[in-house]
Amino acid sequence: MNTSAYDAIIIGAGAAGLSTALVLGRARRRVLVLDGGPPRNAAAAHVNGYLGVDGLSPLELLDVGRTQVEKLGVEVREAAVSAVQMAGDGFLVTLDGEQAQARRVVLASGITDRLPEIAGLAEGFGVDIFHCPYCHGYEVAGQRLAVVATHPMSGHQVRMVRQWSDDVLFFLNDTAELDAEERRVFAARGVEVVDGPVDEIVRRDGTLHGVRASGEVREVDAVFVAPSMVLNIDAMAGLGLEMSDTPLGPVVAADPTGATNVPGLWAVGNVADAGSQVISASAAGAKAAAMLNFSLIEDEWAAAAEAVS
Ligand SMILES: Cc1cc2nc3c(=O)[nH]c(=O)nc-3n(C[C@H](O)[C@H](O)[C@H](O)COP(=O)(O)OP(=O)(O)OC[C@H]3O[C@@H](n4cnc5c(N)ncnc54)[C@H](O)[C@@H]3O)c2cc1C
Repeated sequence: MNTSAYDAIIIGAGAAGLSTALVLGRARRRVLVLDGGPPRNAAAAHVNGYLGVDGLSPLELLDVGRTQVEKLGVEVREAAVSAVQMAGDGFLVTLDGEQAQARRVVLASGITDRLPEIAGLAEGFGVDIFHCPYCHGYEVAGQRLAVVATHPMSGHQVRMVRQWSDDVLFFLNDTAELDAEERRVFAARGVEVVDGPVDEIVRRDGTLHGVRASGEVREVDAVFVAPSMVLNIDAMAGLGLEMSDTPLGPVVAADPTGATNVPGLWAVGNVADAGSQVISASAAGAKAAAMLNFSLIEDEWAAAAEAVS
């Protein structure tokens, strides 16, 4: 690892972090990318909905990205960041017992999905149990789909999922409530509502078989749930990072360029936009990189002006 200050340290080597690194590497900046583990979509077989790479595996996409940024001289290390502190004009980043300095930091550490504790659910998440119909709806279109309520707003997910199939069961799971009028509308849209708690997602030979609620198993081909999303931002404690409330939960507050309230700190991808897909996480990284590079350019010209004044 380079011991002098990096122009930028990027926390997270998912789509957002590597896209940031690509643009900064092409701007000939000294960049270190630190990655603490797999991306959020690691369990999925494909990245769907990304023009040009639609259907590539998530890990293959990131491998290609990593190779490309390394060719530009960007350092990529597998190391979890445990702390970020402001130090002078920049930052001190702690990783695996070491520290590295940077003029700027980009937080691209994404989200951890906390799944509801229902037997059989975690095994199928990303395989035949999904959260996002834009990511996986096309692959299961027209099949027997279930939405298991995990949130009072799960009725919204049903409205979405219904677009992909006219065979949708909505398990209220003692979590969502529907009044008589809402039940009539769901019935009119062909959605069958199942009352009572969900006991188990039934799997047979590793494959989804059905959903058991109140002792009865209803066979389905895919299940949609809404995990609670936990931002991977523990390392940022103490920086006074502002958060913003969204219907999907709190995210790091960032302007359209990814700049946060902490000078020199950008936030991109799911950490700042929980609903962002891979293509939009990449786009956010690319945009933030350009603005971050510009902020460095401004500092360098200001220093030159001061030197001659
Ligand atoms: C099951 C599933 C399937 C999905 N399928 C699709 C799909 O088909 N198409 C689509 O467009 N989107 C899909 N998504 C959404 C997609 O995962 C996100 O849009 C994308 O991962 C966001 O990219 P990111 O770079 O912000 O975060 P991530 O890809 O999650 O990358 C964040 C990285 O930061 C690392 N990290 C976390 N904490 C630290 C730390 N302290 N120090 C260092 N590194 C850290 C993580 O390990 C990770 O590698 C899916 C999501 C799920 C859950």
